[in-house]
Amino acid sequence: MTASSSAPRPEPLLATRSRASHLLRLLAATYPRAACALVWKSPFQLAVATILSAQCTDRRVNLVTPALFARYPNPADFAAASLPDLEEAIRSCGFFHNKARALQALGAELVRAHHGRLPADPADLEGLPGIGRKTANLLRGEVYDIPSLIVDTHFIRLSNRLGLLPAPSEDPLVIERRVQELVPRPEWTHWSHLMIAHGRACCAARAPACGICPVAHLCPSRAIAARSVAAPASPAPAVPRPAPSPRKKR
Ligand code: SF4
Repeated sequence: MTASSSAPRPEPLLATRSRASHLLRLLAATYPRAACALVWKSPFQLAVATILSAQCTDRRVNLVTPALFARYPNPADFAAASLPDLEEAIRSCGFFHNKARALQALGAELVRAHHGRLPADPADLEGLPGIGRKTANLLRGEVYDIPSLIVDTHFIRLSNRLGLLPAPSEDPLVIERRVQELVPRPEWTHWSHLMIAHGRACCAARAPACGICPVAHLCPSRAIAARSVAAPASPAPAVPRPAPSPRKKR
């Protein structure tokens, strides 16, 4: 064969795996306290906080949940709550109509089918009201200590920019399966928190700070830096400072 395409060849899996290993080491050193930032005292509280965190900051959720859990301590309390009251209690988290309905339905389903608790079998998490794969994986990782990839918007963006996928994708399941091939299983939950930490602190959606990125030499998208510099209206964010680990109980 003599003909050749001008398109770059895909990186071999072993090379991507090696790069992922370096990324893990460097990001772990950069964000040594990367962890779930939601504050919770029971598995059910973490489920509620995670539902509230959709399209909302963890900081906002942590401001709302103390009063929420004081008023509605258990799934049965959420199931019996007045929808307008529940909406008012979580209004500042955004999308409060949908979130309140999800929380009420989750409480009712846990009472109906799981003795008023999160199911003991993590396989039963997915499909509960308000709990999709991302939330189920977060609960598996945080509550059950089962290594899990939490594929949120940061994870999706960074997986693409870091060239970890054979082809660009926004499909969380495709990305999850691919990263499972690249990162050792015991590190899956940790890797997820590192993606979120780096996405928040440095590799922002609109203005990635490639110029100060600790993994720029491993990133095929680092040319974004040149475009960012060329656009004076998009200043680079501050140098990342990892947030302190939250206090949590199990
Ligand atoms: S070099 Fe730029 S695009 Fe790549 S991970 Fe760092 S901030 Fe993100």
